[in-house]
Amino acid sequence: MSRSQSPGLKGIKTIEELPIEGKRVFLRLDLNVPLKGKEITDDTRIRGALPTIKYALAKKTKLILASHLGRPKKREDFWKYSLEPVASRLSELLDKEVVLFDDPMGDGIKGMVAGLKDNQILLLENTRFAPEEEKNSMEMATLVSSYADVYVNDAFGAIHRAHATVDAVPKMFKFRGIGFLIKKEVEMLDRLLFHAEKPFLTILGGAKVSDKMGVIENLMEKVDGFVIGGAMAYTFLAAQGINVGNSLVEKEKIHLAKDLLERFRLRKKSLALPVDHVIAEKLEANVPTKTTPTAAIPDGFMGLDIGPKTIELIKAEVSKAKTIFWNGPMGAFETPPFEMGTFSVARSLSECKAFTVVGGGDSVTAVEEAGVAEKMGHISTGGGASLEYLEGAKLPGLEALRQ
Ligand code: ADP
Ligand code: MG
Repeated sequence: MSRSQSPGLKGIKTIEELPIEGKRVFLRLDLNVPLKGKEITDDTRIRGALPTIKYALAKKTKLILASHLGRPKKREDFWKYSLEPVASRLSELLDKEVVLFDDPMGDGIKGMVAGLKDNQILLLENTRFAPEEEKNSMEMATLVSSYADVYVNDAFGAIHRAHATVDAVPKMFKFRGIGFLIKKEVEMLDRLLFHAEKPFLTILGGAKVSDKMGVIENLMEKVDGFVIGGAMAYTFLAAQGINVGNSLVEKEKIHLAKDLLERFRLRKKSLALPVDHVIAEKLEANVPTKTTPTAAIPDGFMGLDIGPKTIELIKAEVSKAKTIFWNGPMGAFETPPFEMGTFSVARSLSECKAFTVVGGGDSVTAVEEAGVAEKMGHISTGGGASLEYLEGAKLPGLEALRQ
């Protein structure tokens, strides 16, 4: 498959290069935080948006903020997905009033926006409440673009979506660009793609081979080696004719795994697959487990984590590398005791000398739970967006800003 390589941030202005002083600025953020009821369980994404917000405030802008939250489908769900808790947390963090406007496409908005004063913050309610958002509607673009003079996107977690506030809206602005979060994310991922110090090791895990195919293909010529663990590994082991018992295998992907094994060999890329596993009869908390002596898994059992020999093997690979990208847990880490492999790999990365980047929702959770998040070189806040970028895909949210 041929892939066009993303031209990074070429032709895209950063907020520092835009004439925002005293202007009305539409700032698209990713404030899609996890909620338990109305309680924010992790405010990382809100804090991630602060540098750009504070910079804009220092320039005396009139700020119009927008974000999606969750996947609201029907009108009755709206209260559940309201940005109200976000407005309140943001207001606390900035020590400043944040007005939430609940009808961003209604009649009242025009007056509201026109009446904004320097340094005032208006947060528009969940962009996905309007069906036009996911339809990337031109109508919405025309309307929303009338609210502000300058458009800034800092919603890294949403730039792979061709949604109105990410794609159609910015195209209507003469002055448009990115904030500090997107800049940092893209620079870090570009460092992997174009300036990785060798040896460059990519560690992949997680549930599905099919999710990670594009990344393997695009990184194939850039890395020196791969480590493949997690449920993904069983499809590769099956492709080598090794018994994998009842482990998760994508049968229809076995031929693809065979092709990839051959490609790794031809290109002389090292590949480490699990040499032992922690197995059980079913995936359930605190079930009786066994450790296999070899890569084979007996019938009636599932591989649910990598074994101790594999942990050591990965540690050795990690210690040789100068650049490491990790995506995808090594086992079913949410269910004890199958977190050992994933947490051990997280610790190995935190102790090594390489530049380390961790991407992917579950992998980032695992690194945080292992208590080593601060020791990573970079943690990518947008799982889907970072993977698509590393696949070499053109992301709508970046392309819409390129001039
Ligand atoms: P990320 O969100 O970091 O990209 P994925 O979504 O691809 O990662 O995969 C994470 C999921 O893979 C987790 O829910 C984890 O439980 C599951 N997983 C990993 N290894 C196994 C395994 N051996 N058996 C079952 N599930 C697994
Ligand atoms: Mg995931």
